[in-house]
Amino acid sequence: EAKLGAVANAPRHVDYPLAQSGRVQFPSELFGQNVFGLKELQKSLPKPVYAQYVKQMRGRQTLDKTTADAIAHAVRVWAMDRGATHFTHWFQPQTGSTAEKHDSFLTLKYSNSGDDASAIDTFSGSQLLQSEPDASSFPSGGMRTTFEARGYTVWDTTSPMFIRPGAIKGTATLYVPSVFISYNGQALDEKTILLRANEALSRNAVKLLRLLGENVTRVFTTLGTEQEYFLIDRALYALRPDLKLTGRTLLGAVPPKHQQLEDHYFGKIPSRVLATMSEAELELMQLGVPVKTRHNEVAPGQFELAPIFEEATVAVDHNLLVMDVLHQVAHRHKLKVLFHEKPFRGINGSGKHCNWSMSTDQGDNLLDPTVKPETNYRFLLFLLATLLGVHQHQGILRTSISSASNDHRLGAQEAPPGIISAFLGEQLTEVLDAIEQKRTIKNFSVPHMQTIKLGGTVLDLKVSVLPEIVRDLTDRNRTSPFAFTGNKFEFRAVGSKQSPSFPVAILTAAVASALGQVISLLEARIQSTPGKFVATEDDKLAVIRELITKTKAIRFEGDNYSDAWVQEAEKRGLLNIKDCPTAFAQLLEPVNADMLTKGTGVFTPEELHSRYHVLVERYAKDVLIEAGTLVFLVNQHVLPATFEYRKNLADTIVALKGAGADAAPEVAAINALTPIVSAVQAEIAALSKAIDEVHAAEDPVEEAKRANALLRPLMATVRDHADQLEDLVADKFWPYPKYTELLFQ
Ligand code: ADP
Ligand code: MG
Repeated sequence: EAKLGAVANAPRHVDYPLAQSGRVQFPSELFGQNVFGLKELQKSLPKPVYAQYVKQMRGRQTLDKTTADAIAHAVRVWAMDRGATHFTHWFQPQTGSTAEKHDSFLTLKYSNSGDDASAIDTFSGSQLLQSEPDASSFPSGGMRTTFEARGYTVWDTTSPMFIRPGAIKGTATLYVPSVFISYNGQALDEKTILLRANEALSRNAVKLLRLLGENVTRVFTTLGTEQEYFLIDRALYALRPDLKLTGRTLLGAVPPKHQQLEDHYFGKIPSRVLATMSEAELELMQLGVPVKTRHNEVAPGQFELAPIFEEATVAVDHNLLVMDVLHQVAHRHKLKVLFHEKPFRGINGSGKHCNWSMSTDQGDNLLDPTVKPETNYRFLLFLLATLLGVHQHQGILRTSISSASNDHRLGAQEAPPGIISAFLGEQLTEVLDAIEQKRTIKNFSVPHMQTIKLGGTVLDLKVSVLPEIVRDLTDRNRTSPFAFTGNKFEFRAVGSKQSPSFPVAILTAAVASALGQVISLLEARIQSTPGKFVATEDDKLAVIRELITKTKAIRFEGDNYSDAWVQEAEKRGLLNIKDCPTAFAQLLEPVNADMLTKGTGVFTPEELHSRYHVLVERYAKDVLIEAGTLVFLVNQHVLPATFEYRKNLADTIVALKGAGADAAPEVAAINALTPIVSAVQAEIAALSKAIDEVHAAEDPVEEAKRANALLRPLMATVRDHADQLEDLVADKFWPYPKYTELLFQ
């Protein structure tokens, strides 16, 4: 029977790891148990080798063979002690997920005579450092011609190795986080780009801090990803080919009750879901992922998991692990996790809020207003550099979040629209306005606000004294795609399914470039006085003022969902990008392409074109798969089910008439169906024809444009009518579990 949702599933039994005393292990004890971190390395390596590694880790030197061999040996012993039989280079091709190929530690060693082989376990330094998967089947956007189809995975020493359980109880696989590059050194993956963007940002941030009189050696970006997802019964999932093939429901009428009572958000977590979350968290903790928060989200069946923020590259690795572990564990609990941005029409979709900031190697958050006035110049300069980057490169921030799936969410009522803008909150807005207008700041006396003292008691803004900055802890403008939340920005438009790597790399590159411009502005002022090397307060304030004026257009405090904003944004000259093909083209606009290549060195020109092509091709494929699936569903299931119901009604009409009864209601029921069935048939014919037209496009760019312009509107019309049929056809004839069954368990 289709309606399995009502069948209660007994919760799965999981043993929680106990301490020797028999008590449950504390989260702090579980944390990182399966990670070969610096502590383990230090324990297992001779001191000089360890010191060598630490020097080489940040890429300041290349890893020499002796050190690599020593680390490989140490990690193999550690991993085999924990059941590892295999190792894998784990990398991030441009598919949105991760890739791995496992090799066993087994080596055959032949005797001198060559006829006697003995089996030994080995893992060499060169195996640790580099591997050569057959890479020809990963997206490369045409960058690799077949004769040089080789790709290399290279250990990313900034992210620690870890083990994950194998299929057989007690076994494990050693994971080596890696980058993925082509034979001639071009990036084929998500990670290389992010590492380069971080480097570009660090370079400029360190330089800017020097001008402010601060000496730091490295600045890194921090990232905390709030992951939203749906959980549905796996047996019901199995009955929805649309979910299986496309990740979302292509059909399905919205039930009378969904989220309008607002009773799900932060509600009690259903027990099977809590069991799933707990088991996933246990595994993630052991993997060193600092999972922190779990709760119900707004839509029925929707949940969220948030970790504690970390250095961005590690946070990206960890977000990909979160998705993978949730997927696996849900399976064990007979649930299916949906990461698609919009699995259900008419109901909230899922995002991945990327909380982002910059930190010095001394742990100072550069977006944190502090109590010291001198560091608040720093705060404002970094804040304004972020706004400047977002303003200048709004187009590629839009690119970075665009996909066939996230476009269903963007612009819908629960997610920010296709216009990129930044929200600062009332207090910070007032601070910037006051500085710009050279006036005293209005006094805010909201009790739950943290007051941050700036400058002296005299607020004479004509001289170089900054006003008091009040840290706004109240921001809850959920409509903004990019919001300042006290001491970090939150990039909210990022989709739940995508890797956070690309959007974060683009944001980081844009800010790196903007920092470069801030440096130039300050340097121009410093150099105007011979013998001066750091910026005076006057210099800083003048530059701050200039930047405030320059970035005003990107700041928006109102309702991003309103029509008024669309008009206002147009007046301000902001981009309003409504579809994927237009969004992708932004990558090639000179303002963006120059910044990403010459400006920051995040991409080579070839890599940038390749990235563009990968996105375009992926989009066309995604939409084509959806359209093909919809045709199949309607022809194979929806229409036959409707015909069966009509036949049932017709038989009844014959029977009723034979019995001399009035069959008018049944006749009316059939007649109500007829025009809708005819409409669906015509629309499916049109959709099939349009699919052919898309296939006939001579190049991928045109294919993507046609997919967007032809397929998506037709799919929406088919759906409207098919959903009307769902409402009219008797439930027992309907071939699929409905939203009510999928969402309420
Ligand atoms: P809110 O509830 O206002 O969104 P939280 O404190 O719950 O704020 O943080 C949400 C996410 O932001 C968490 O993953 C958190 O670790 C992360 N976060 C906090 N501070 C920073 C920071 N400086 N850089 C990056 N992420 C951060
Ligand atoms: Mg948040």
